[in-house]
Amino acid sequence: MADNGSRSAREEALHELRTAQKLLVVTHENPDGDALGSLLAMREILRLLGKRADAFIDPRELPLPQEYRFLRLDDALHDPPADLAERTVVFVDCGSLERNPAEAFRREGVHIVNLDHHHDNTRFGTVNLVDPSASCTAEIVWDLMHGLGVEPTVEIAEALYVGLITDTGRFMYENTTPRAHRMAAELIEAGVVVPEIYRRVYEGVPFGKLALLARGLAKVRRYDDGRLTVTELDASDFAESGAAESYSEGVIDHLRALEGTAVAALVRDRISAGDGERKVSLRASDERVDVSRIARAQGGGGHRGAAGFTTSMSSEELVEFLRGQLAEQLAAA
Ligand code: AMP
Ligand code: MN
Ligand code: MN
Repeated sequence: MADNGSRSAREEALHELRTAQKLLVVTHENPDGDALGSLLAMREILRLLGKRADAFIDPRELPLPQEYRFLRLDDALHDPPADLAERTVVFVDCGSLERNPAEAFRREGVHIVNLDHHHDNTRFGTVNLVDPSASCTAEIVWDLMHGLGVEPTVEIAEALYVGLITDTGRFMYENTTPRAHRMAAELIEAGVVVPEIYRRVYEGVPFGKLALLARGLAKVRRYDDGRLTVTELDASDFAESGAAESYSEGVIDHLRALEGTAVAALVRDRISAGDGERKVSLRASDERVDVSRIARAQGGGGHRGAAGFTTSMSSEELVEFLRGQLAEQLAAA
């Protein structure tokens, strides 16, 4: 089994994509810009090669976040297809099998090509191309596109650009490499109109999203001289703001940017999952801290600077846990 962004893993992934005739492209739950951009781009690249390729989106993820609805995914499948056994299933941006809610992909014998940039990816595929040095999974898809000899359409370029800007925080996070900028330049040459994409992704904000942000900011709490900055959004905050679940995206960036913060945490009710558990998003704003370690200690995962997990802990327990983890990491640094 190939691994880790090595040349052979890339070659193996290319071989799989070249030889498969029927494919299904799949991503992680609560899909973000990289998930949906990579999903659409990969499907379109495969279709340009004359293959039968579909995107799969679990019905529990619908409606998709409003900012990504311009991506043409309305014809995605919402049920695993009957011919799943004959398809090559291409996972994009998904660190583990459990990160996709559909059971069908966890069965024995599903042929999986796993394309991802999470360093803690569980290598669940038949072939695993996991490259933590890639700024986003879209960067891996972009590289494979070259390997497959495909020229991007404007739609593919836009989809890849969405993955790139969202996962780099608009070219702000540590994963913003020269290569990420070269990719951006190439995508603009391929037809991306930069202000148009930014407007679609970051503007046209629904009022309910602003109202939810206001609640999140009003409830900010700080611990340990502000090194830990936390806020919570519960079901009533969503209901009273008229906010969809995905509207909490971006709230944490305000906490992360706050002076003195080393770790920012957003705790929110998992409304659609209906399991009574809460989702914790973590961001590090101190390079000594690795929030993916904190998330992994609770069964989640992610990157050094951005990670998450699901929990049934009370707010008090959770804050004590986070304070302990943060103190431990800072003491060891
Ligand atoms: P989020 O806080 O949802 O924006 O996620 C930040 C990063 O952490 C992303 O790279 C996610 O893929 C990862 N992540 C979030 N939640 C989980 C989870 N429950 N398990 C594994 N990885 C997660
Ligand atoms: Mn993602
Ligand atoms: Mn990603």
